[in-house]
Amino acid sequence: MKVVIAQDIGFCLGVRQAVETVERTLNEGPWPVQVLGSLIHNHQVIRSLETRGVRMIREPGEAESGTLVLPSHGSPPDTGSGMGRLGVKVIDATCPLVARAQAAARRLDEAGYQVVLVGDRGHAEVVAIAAWTGGRAVVVRDESEVPQVPGTGPVGIVAQTTQRSEVVEGVARRLGEAGREVKVEDTLCPITRRRQQEAGELAKKVDLVLVVGGRDSANTRRLVEVVRETGVPAHAIETASDLDPRWLDGVDRVGVTAGASTPDWAIEEVLGRMRQIEEAAENQAGKEAGELQATSGEREQSDQPPAAEHEPSGSEAVPMFDRGQFVQGRVMAIDGTDVLIDVGGKSEGVITSSELAGRPIADPSSIVNVGDLIAVVVLGTDEKDGTLHLSKRLADVELAWQRLESAFQQGGIIEAPVTAQVKGGLVTDVGVRGFIPSSQVALSFVRDLKPYVGRTLQLKLLELDRAERRVILSARAVLEEEQARRDAEVWGKLREGEIVPGTVKRLTDFGAFVDIGGVDGLLHVSELSWQRVVHPRDVVQEGQEVKCKILRLDPERKRISLGLKQLEGDPWQDVEQRYPVGSIVEGSVVSLASFGAFVQLEQGVEGLVHLSELSDRRVERADQVVAMGDRLRVKVLKVNRAQKRLSLSRKEADQEIERAALRKYMAQQKQTERVTLGEVFGDLFNGREGAKADGGEPASPADTPQDPERD
Ligand code: SF4
Repeated sequence: MKVVIAQDIGFCLGVRQAVETVERTLNEGPWPVQVLGSLIHNHQVIRSLETRGVRMIREPGEAESGTLVLPSHGSPPDTGSGMGRLGVKVIDATCPLVARAQAAARRLDEAGYQVVLVGDRGHAEVVAIAAWTGGRAVVVRDESEVPQVPGTGPVGIVAQTTQRSEVVEGVARRLGEAGREVKVEDTLCPITRRRQQEAGELAKKVDLVLVVGGRDSANTRRLVEVVRETGVPAHAIETASDLDPRWLDGVDRVGVTAGASTPDWAIEEVLGRMRQIEEAAENQAGKEAGELQATSGEREQSDQPPAAEHEPSGSEAVPMFDRGQFVQGRVMAIDGTDVLIDVGGKSEGVITSSELAGRPIADPSSIVNVGDLIAVVVLGTDEKDGTLHLSKRLADVELAWQRLESAFQQGGIIEAPVTAQVKGGLVTDVGVRGFIPSSQVALSFVRDLKPYVGRTLQLKLLELDRAERRVILSARAVLEEEQARRDAEVWGKLREGEIVPGTVKRLTDFGAFVDIGGVDGLLHVSELSWQRVVHPRDVVQEGQEVKCKILRLDPERKRISLGLKQLEGDPWQDVEQRYPVGSIVEGSVVSLASFGAFVQLEQGVEGLVHLSELSDRRVERADQVVAMGDRLRVKVLKVNRAQKRLSLSRKEADQEIERAALRKYMAQQKQTERVTLGEVFGDLFNGREGAKADGGEPASPADTPQDPERD
């Protein structure tokens, strides 16, 4: 199989500049180094930068103080402005050719043209260019979408830098045919154009073309399109493992080209894999030929003894390791900042300090010890002495993803430290960077997340997308599960009527929530005391330990009704005996209502004196004749123990008292004719009603005539 490799291959100008910017910043700081969105469209490169400590963030607001690098495919204007005040140094790594397209779009828009942007709707570069026109640009994929361009005035065409020139020309032609004045700005990337032309030429010389590039890479997709249009099959592959050996079956000449964001080593890996596939095919062919020969020899020389299947080698074979291979090795020695590893079969490797962990390590023994068995990834082999270059850092990242994937599939719980607070949540280290949205930090919303930094949390994975490096976790999910488990346990033990200890957790206007051993019950304000309670704080305080009675359990709605007053004697228990109908009793005015006054006879027992029962004369409002705290004599008219209601009458009590006084007078009259009416009724004439009408003080209860029946 002959392999023809395109001449112009590897990182383009813009991608190289962006990657070098990040690498330089990784060395120089300020740290941490953060990239907004995808720096370039190649997952392998992004993953490699990430394992070296680069943080990929989605929004500028997620940036911590350090450096924020804007991606090569550009950003909307003003992205990152004002970040300096937050201690964030912003470096714009927009490719100069993309910046040229943005400027052209803005110029056309400002000159009054309807900007038509030819490109992939939703692609980050296209979104950013459109933003430079204030969002007024119309995005069209190709000429078929020209009818969507509004208006009849002049149009200015700009294109996504990786677009094919034929597509842009088609759009311009259709707009011209529609009678529009058309101005075309050449925003196509010359590097991309050259590679597309070369891919077309390459296709003429081979039977198959492999295009190595990121799955999200627009220019990789276009290279595939260019080749396929020539009638030659083409496959896009991101890594060597994407290469299907069947594609190479019976193929004599294979062309290899690559997208603009494909690193050289990714291309080399694909070429190495092709060699492996070819060798395997040759071995298989040789084996089949040998078997055929052996079979025929067997037939011809069946009297000969069988030959040994394998010749002993006489020495232990030295294993070959592929770049990217995952192997186990034992730490043999720590030499300064390097760690020497025995990977078996007389092979030795070295891990340099930068490959030990995802952060700078001064002392390797803080990570590994001599004798440790560790997983490493083979980076390559020293051509001079055959030493393997190994990476523990990459192996750790791979293992972390494997652990995360397994935890995600099984719904397992992960323990991880919180490393930082960012806008909208917390950052955690789960081997790779994880994000906990603020709504997922605790059972209820947490306003101040700072105290969580440095703590280790138990977490469940909500989302896991390795390609997008998206790891979203929740501490709340773990807490909810714990709570559900605790609830089930506690609910299994609770019984209505039981007296349980609890702690007041929270007060509201309608009651107090009490934790009774892991679940909360509601102590309604009406169940706090037999007395009227205005607010729960009048009876209990947050944090107070109380004993409550379980009044009702509602397992379906998970509601527990508690009572506190039930632990005291019910004053309504024998209320009919203590306050029989017709008796005259004394109480205090505790509440005034539009329909009368409430009079408390004892703690927890109140009755209503209706407006019509307050006085002999017509009363509009209770406060015309009584005030809060007044002591009154009232007659019990009605008792309803079930509804805890007493009907009282001050009017009838006064009449009774009057009649009693009269009876007393009549009795005294018989004894002495010298007693005057004024002496007998003096108290009555100077009583409350008269005093209120005069604006004076009410008469004291001591001056009020006593109820002879009560006496
Ligand atoms: S393909 Fe061209 S426009 Fe895109 S980043 Fe590379 S050099 Fe810049």
